[in-house]
Amino acid sequence: MQFSEIPGLEGLKNQLISAHNRGKVAHAQLFAGRPGTAVLPMALSYATFLMCENKTDQDSCGTCPNCVRIKKLVHPDIHLHFPKISAAESKYEKVLAEAIPRFREFVIESPFGDLDAWTRKYGQENKNILISREDSRQMLRNVSMRSVEGGYKILLIWVPELMNPSSANAILKILEEPPEKTLYLLVSYNYDNLLATITSRTQLVNIPPNTEEEVKAYLLQRGADAAKAEQAAKLSEGKIGLATHLAEAGESQEYEDFQKWMLECWNKNLTGLVRRSEDFSKSGKGAQKTTLNFAISLIRNAVVSASGQAAPTQNDAEASFIKKFSDKLELVRLEKVYALLNESFIHLERNSNPRITHLNLSLEIIRVLNG
Ligand SMILES: [Zn+2]
Repeated sequence: MQFSEIPGLEGLKNQLISAHNRGKVAHAQLFAGRPGTAVLPMALSYATFLMCENKTDQDSCGTCPNCVRIKKLVHPDIHLHFPKISAAESKYEKVLAEAIPRFREFVIESPFGDLDAWTRKYGQENKNILISREDSRQMLRNVSMRSVEGGYKILLIWVPELMNPSSANAILKILEEPPEKTLYLLVSYNYDNLLATITSRTQLVNIPPNTEEEVKAYLLQRGADAAKAEQAAKLSEGKIGLATHLAEAGESQEYEDFQKWMLECWNKNLTGLVRRSEDFSKSGKGAQKTTLNFAISLIRNAVVSASGQAAPTQNDAEASFIKKFSDKLELVRLEKVYALLNESFIHLERNSNPRITHLNLSLEIIRVLNG
């Protein structure tokens, strides 16, 4: 990837480039930001920049042999580590051989994708995935190998917070005493969950969300139609990964589903709600989070609009929904629904039972709507 493929964030790009130009490349860096933001694209563009044979003041060239191989994620001196299903030592090679081509495809297709997008692509939505003890042994082997091309050797560790504690401890030593020209790029969405002993050994590179305008421009450039791009950008909170998903995966379907759900709550349609919670629990963790994320964004916009703050621009469907919703529901109740949705999202992240969580949420929403 090249820096030019990431919209905005120019200050951050310049900071990375100028550290290189001053000979101040930290050997262990922690790229951190919210899921769906440019965390992985920034780390990949940086790695490409460092390895490029014809770099300019602003970016890698995109065409030299190193750039081309990194673009395909097949550069022999860039070692990718990422969460996958755990495997006994004897099965590890097989699991790795199956996961790597899928991971390459995933990153090339959707570099802004988050962990849920990866598990969907990997086909392991309801399994626990992690960076295992075997993976950390692999890292140690990578570190002990010589660089093939004689330049930098980079270990890119995606979602290091999913390292199990023994693998995290195993890599502490290599983080502390790296061989010359060996770089560690950790790409994290929740670095609070990393061991403090790891974060303290890395330099933090904080990746902020993009602006709504940047997200919209990105979607338009990828061929989304104008209304869809606008709507998805507005709901995305600056997360290009989420916006892309909303724009490409039939956001209007999600919108319709949400309306039906609220209607069932309004009408106290318990049979419908029980069925809905069952469908929800079968849909896989990624889809569950997307459903709630979508509802959270929509209600947040309704809250903003109802409280008379800067009313976000809306398309017709959303405007009419918000009008209907806020006509019947005063601000304080909208805020309660918003809080309930957020709570359920947190429960889900902590692996609560999705069927029960969703049904409880519906019952609570009934109480708020009809209270
Ligand atoms: Zn190049």
